[in-house]
Amino acid sequence: MYPITLDVRGQRCLVVGAGAVALRKIKGLLAEDAQVTVVAPAAIEPVLRLADEGAIALVRRAFVENDVEGCRLIVVATGNRAVDESVSAAAKQRGIWTNVADVPDLCDFHLPSVIRRGDFHLAIASAGKAPFATRRMRELLERKLGPDWGDWIEAARRFRRRVQQHGLGGLSADVAYDRFMAETVDEETLAVRVPMASDEEAWVHGAGGARATATTSVGRVSLVGAGPGNPGLLTVAGLERVQHADAVVYDRLAIPAIPLDLPDAVELFFVGKQPGHHPVPQAEIETLLVRLAREGKRVVRLKGGDPFVFARGGEEALALKAAGISCEVIPGITAGIAAPAAAGIPVTFRGQAARLTFITAHEEGAPQARWDLLAKDAQATLVGYMGVSNLAAVTAALLAAGMPADTPAALVAQGTLPGQRLVRAPLAELATKAESERIEPPAIFVIGKVAAYADQLASWQAGPLRRARIAMFAPAMKLGAILRTAGTQLLVAPAPLTKAARLVLGLGSGARWIVRSPSELEILGRERSEGANVVQGPPICTSAELVRMARDRGWHDAAQLDASASDDVIVDRLRALLDCGPHLS
Ligand code: SAH
Repeated sequence: MYPITLDVRGQRCLVVGAGAVALRKIKGLLAEDAQVTVVAPAAIEPVLRLADEGAIALVRRAFVENDVEGCRLIVVATGNRAVDESVSAAAKQRGIWTNVADVPDLCDFHLPSVIRRGDFHLAIASAGKAPFATRRMRELLERKLGPDWGDWIEAARRFRRRVQQHGLGGLSADVAYDRFMAETVDEETLAVRVPMASDEEAWVHGAGGARATATTSVGRVSLVGAGPGNPGLLTVAGLERVQHADAVVYDRLAIPAIPLDLPDAVELFFVGKQPGHHPVPQAEIETLLVRLAREGKRVVRLKGGDPFVFARGGEEALALKAAGISCEVIPGITAGIAAPAAAGIPVTFRGQAARLTFITAHEEGAPQARWDLLAKDAQATLVGYMGVSNLAAVTAALLAAGMPADTPAALVAQGTLPGQRLVRAPLAELATKAESERIEPPAIFVIGKVAAYADQLASWQAGPLRRARIAMFAPAMKLGAILRTAGTQLLVAPAPLTKAARLVLGLGSGARWIVRSPSELEILGRERSEGANVVQGPPICTSAELVRMARDRGWHDAAQLDASASDDVIVDRLRALLDCGPHLS
């Protein structure tokens, strides 16, 4: 199929048939100022009216071969196969383009579903094979494309003239056109903005000197807090910066917040601690940020939690300032508040905790804190970061300074993540209990009366699939919504997988996949054979056929999920498959 748009002004067009379908085609042709003749033995009222008004010529009799003589275009809508065939044959003989409504094999052109906004025309076609689908897509896109697209295309026409008048060609013209698009169309919502003449002038001038500006412009750095790990807890502003970044410099705890669909063109730099390796020295991180910014890039420095809470964000901001690089901070939700909250601990509480102290339990030498003051303050909450290995030392120091042994205490590991764990004990027993339960970092400890609220509230927000880490290819659609409601940490990945998707999916032992098509299965098979750590366990397939295909690929215990079942059935099935265990230990 070769799509074109035709200028039918003043052209003789024949419509055979005068029923409801024919009427639609007649109106379409009239709207483009075609000269329309209609041949039909009988006509519905609106067609008769058009004839009376002189808008069309109506020939009230059966079609005869000669009717096609002198026409440029023919549209047939009789609903009668014999008539359709005779018109089509007569037209073919004379080489006249013909469309027969609903009979694709007699057509030599098809009429797309069209959205019009002034001179902006969006035509949707299916080679005549699925008109219902193109019609519905039109309805869907109609709602997205506002009336201002008409003004926008007019502005685009003006802008093109302007670019030509300035003598821009080749690369410079492309730069100008890219700029026009970037400044006027919102890729996500398809909303458009009609620019002012002064904007257009500036873009044209910018494009003329494109090379010069690219080398002299200086980038900027955003220090972005990634939140405690759950990707939903990255702020809207933080996500926006990450999505528009040229480079992302990240720590280990920030990985889960990286969007899976981040394009591969975005540079990713890991500067966190690697088990068994020395951490990247702080000075080296700062040098990297400065270098990237000087290359004119939009840099995001993505840190777990909040960038200014035990994260050396202040030092990085100062280093950037000293290097003359513009820098902003986008706060994040710090683990010291989020992890307790996720375990049901409100860190302040009227009448019980009027003060809140954040400490780091990991410092050179022993943890530095005024234990004497902290131990005596019954109206306070003490929240500690980086405390797993020093927990025994911290609790011993507090007990030695006189804090009551039965002070409520808690340790929350992997707060807000599927692997979240909670240990609740009186102060004197917390360290031993944490050790016997083999709690590993990252974890936050909470000491003070409020820690006891975990006993009542720990499971109040637990969804039945809260412990599940499930991956699906986009779009996740209704099944995705069901999984999210059930509390799953759902990873929606683009196909093919991006670098960012591999990075996030590869955390821990990978993710359990729900697979809905052979091509998805194929991608996972390839990933597995390339040794990527993105697939955990056999895929969960949404049909028996896919299960068979998965088994053929060596996933012998591939499971089946009926995605059309009711929400409850789906959740129960996944619970059984994923062995989700108790909500919170
Ligand atoms: N800037 C971060 C803290 C970095 S220090 C913030 O504002 O949260 C790293 C420590 O944060 C970890 O050792 C742990 O104590 C804590 N932490 C980070 N994420 C956590 C999580 N999801 N659950 C529990 N503790 C977490």
